[in-house]
Amino acid sequence: MCVSCTHFRPNAHPREDRPHHCAFVDAPLGARHLRLECHEHEAAAAPQAAAQFLRFSRP
Ligand code: SF4
Repeated sequence: MCVSCTHFRPNAHPREDRPHHCAFVDAPLGARHLRLECHEHEAAAAPQAAAQFLRFSRP
């Protein structure tokens, strides 16, 4: 769910073991922390979601 969330900041912390960031809780996220279910998830608009997916898949 994180990759499609408006609060997700993919690869915001390059070269760290928790490279992603959740702006909702203001905390870094590792791959193991990405959520499949999250009550705070807010769907990003399509252009934001597409850009996030690209940044997530190509750090
Ligand atoms: S609010 Fe939930 S779904 Fe959205 S980025 Fe944070 S942890 Fe992921």
